[in-house]
Amino acid sequence: MSDGWHDECGVFGIHGHPEASNMAYLGLYALQHRGQESAGIASTDGEKIIFHKEMGLVADIFSEEILSRLPGHMAIGHVRYSTTGSSELKNAQPLVVDFESGSISIAHNGNLVNAQELKRELEVSGSIFQSSMDTEVIVHLIARSRKERIEDRIVDALNQVRGAYSLLFMTRDKLIGVRDPHGIRPLALGKMKGEGGATVITSESCALDLIEAEYLREVEPGEMIVVDARGTHSHRPFLPAVEHFCIFEYIYFARPDSIMGGTCIYEVRKALGRQLAKECPVDADVVIPVPDSGVPAALGFSEASGIPFEMGLIRNHYVGRTFIEPQQSIRHFGVKIKLNAVRGVVSGKRVVVVDDSIVRGTTGRKIIKMIRAAGAKEVHFRISSPPTCYPCFYGIDTPHRRDLIAATHTGEETNTYLTSDSLGYLSMEGLHACVPNRKTTYCDACFSGNYPVPLETEEPAEQLPLFRGSVRV
Ligand code: AMP
Repeated sequence: MSDGWHDECGVFGIHGHPEASNMAYLGLYALQHRGQESAGIASTDGEKIIFHKEMGLVADIFSEEILSRLPGHMAIGHVRYSTTGSSELKNAQPLVVDFESGSISIAHNGNLVNAQELKRELEVSGSIFQSSMDTEVIVHLIARSRKERIEDRIVDALNQVRGAYSLLFMTRDKLIGVRDPHGIRPLALGKMKGEGGATVITSESCALDLIEAEYLREVEPGEMIVVDARGTHSHRPFLPAVEHFCIFEYIYFARPDSIMGGTCIYEVRKALGRQLAKECPVDADVVIPVPDSGVPAALGFSEASGIPFEMGLIRNHYVGRTFIEPQQSIRHFGVKIKLNAVRGVVSGKRVVVVDDSIVRGTTGRKIIKMIRAAGAKEVHFRISSPPTCYPCFYGIDTPHRRDLIAATHTGEETNTYLTSDSLGYLSMEGLHACVPNRKTTYCDACFSGNYPVPLETEEPAEQLPLFRGSVRV
């Protein structure tokens, strides 16, 4: 099975800081929720690029000793959660390569939809690939460009790829951040305080908060930001830019303390919960969230419905996200080791459980069983997003369509599977009413099936291969 085209990732880059790799380390710490499988940092002292990457969590990978071996004023870092077939070190990032005009390192969040096709073409003309990452396609395209300046080579390369990319490039003297013309994945620009403060480009503003950098703005769709000794310069080489920002970042993926589209994610999630309470009301005694991701929406639900909010499920914070466990058997077990119902909160009560989304339905089913076992009289499940009916091809890991419960079951059937007394999803209109206004619109393909960047296939979306491992053999 070949794979590698699908990641959930976070990127962090800093220019002009004497302890750049330490800052990158802290930044990656704040972005750990975006990927827990591997992490890496590359730094430069202006002479050479040095890097360290490993499988595992940021805190386990980097020691003081390792960070001291990554000197220099500039660094980029990456956290990654990849898919089953590609959980190997060779697919960890940043990628660091040498070619005729020097060394470059790359960190990518997103997913290219024409990478397979480009890879085939490049292989036919002699390129040898070392990993199964779509990012490596970009490296080869940069190396083949006839342009002289690195910026122009990058533009050349990215003009040939399609899909979602928030990218960081680092050469010996430049930090370059690029966002695809649809602006699907996030990328924020920040600056450390004080005159001549270091410039930071990163996936989420929560990474800026940790290093006490100021959030300036989002990198615009189709924008390229070049940071070097002469300052920070913005270019718009990828036009027309038509923004289709990922709506799922607001629902689940981003950290609630991050700002996207000028609005704090936490506020949006609360608004989703309030809207959900209006759309799917229920007579109940207590509202409980599925922690952690369901907490803001449950608070909003409680606020709008007047039903008291309680923490009726307790999460064990020392276990990774259940969703990332590779095997079904582990995933089932995972919910139990991760969450437990609080008998004192739910016993004898009519309970509303609020979660952000249903994917396969396995978490919900377990949770409902758990809450009933703890004595709940009724369990009503409320979801702060519409039914997830389509896989993502732009960088959020979702299973094949046939494994998405909402794609194969009606609401009624899902309710029966979950064993809930009632089930309610947020409407598409409700969702769009709660997210900040943007110049154009959002990518909501996981709910609507409207893919803003056409997929490289003749087949309809439901026929596409399993997301975890895009090529089936
Ligand atoms: P499932 O048990 O498959 O229905 O998964 C539902 C749970 O997974 C919800 O509690 C969500 O918060 C969480 N979730 C949704 N999408 C993702 C994703 N792409 N990666 C990790 N977790 C997710």
